[in-house]
Amino acid sequence: MSPAAEAVTDALRELHTRFAGLRDGRLADYIPQLARTEPDAFGLALISMDGHRYSAGDAGTPFTMQSVSKPFVYALALSVLGLDEVCRWVSAEPSGEAYNAISLEPDTGRPDNAMVNAGAIITTALIPDTPDTPRFERILDCLSRFAGRRLDVDEQVYASEAATGDRNRALAYLIRSTGPLPVDPVAAVETYFRQCAVRVTALDLAAMAATLANGGVNPLTGDAVVPEPVAAQVLAVMATCGMYDASGEWLLRVGLPAKSGVSGGLIAAGPARFGLATYSPRLDPGGTSVRGRAALGALSERLGLHLMHNP
Ligand code: GLN
Repeated sequence: MSPAAEAVTDALRELHTRFAGLRDGRLADYIPQLARTEPDAFGLALISMDGHRYSAGDAGTPFTMQSVSKPFVYALALSVLGLDEVCRWVSAEPSGEAYNAISLEPDTGRPDNAMVNAGAIITTALIPDTPDTPRFERILDCLSRFAGRRLDVDEQVYASEAATGDRNRALAYLIRSTGPLPVDPVAAVETYFRQCAVRVTALDLAAMAATLANGGVNPLTGDAVVPEPVAAQVLAVMATCGMYDASGEWLLRVGLPAKSGVSGGLIAAGPARFGLATYSPRLDPGGTSVRGRAALGALSERLGLHLMHNP
C-alpha cells in the first residue's frame, strides 16, 4: 500500500474508533420507519479518483438516501434542461433555514435552492417522462449509474413517508399556488418520496460523491453519468446550500461541498480528489448525523482537505 493509501486507511479506522462512543443525537422519527433503524450503525467510506475504495465499520449497511438524493436528481435535471432553464424554477441561494422550511422567494415564488425540500420537489417534477421511461425510472437509473450498481427502493420506508408526508405535500400545493410552473409539483411529490427511499450503503454514497468530484465520470465504472460542467454546478450548490442553515459554518470549518440526509447518510466531495460518505443515524437538531459531522470534520483537519487551503 502506498503511504497516501495507508494514511487514508489509518485515518478512517482511527476516526471510526474515536467516534463510535459518541451517542448524542436522535433518530428521525417523523418518518416512523426511520425510528426503527439500528441506532449504533456507523460506517465510513472514501473512494479516490483512481477507483480505490477505503472503508471502516458498517460501510456496507443499507439505508435510504433521503436528502442525499437531492444533488443527484438536481444533476439529472441540469443535464436534461440546462442551468438557465432549471434556474428559472429553482434559485441557488442559501436559505439559512431548515430543510423542510416554507421558503419561497417573495418576488418570483421560486424555492431558494434545490437542497431544501421545496426546491427538491420542483427538481423532481422537472424530470420529464419519456415515452418508454417514466420519471421515477429515469431517476433510479441515474442514481444507479452514480453508484455504479443497480439500486432499489426500500418499500417500507417509502410507504412510511407516503403515509405521513403531509408537510411536503403542503409545500407542493403552496409551490403550485405561487405561479405558472411547467410541471405539477403535487403529482411529483410522491416520486420525490420514492427517490428519498432509494437504498444505498456508505460505499455507494462515496462512489456517488466521487463521481461528482471526478467531473461526472464514475471512477469505478468509467461511466460518464453527467457532463463535467453539471458536476461542477452541483458541487457549487452543495457547498453553499447542502447543509441547510449550517452550510456557512460547515464550509468554514470542514471546507468541502457536502449533503446530509435524515436517515443518517452524509457525503462530501473533494473536487478531482475523492468522494467521502458516512452513515450513522443519530441526528443533531438540524437533521445531520452527529457522528458523520464529527468524523468528516476531523478527517478534513487530519488530511488537510479544506478546499480553501493553500498547502
Ligand atoms: N424525505 C425527507 C423529507 O422530505 C428527506 C429530508 C432530509 O433528509 N433532510 O422530509
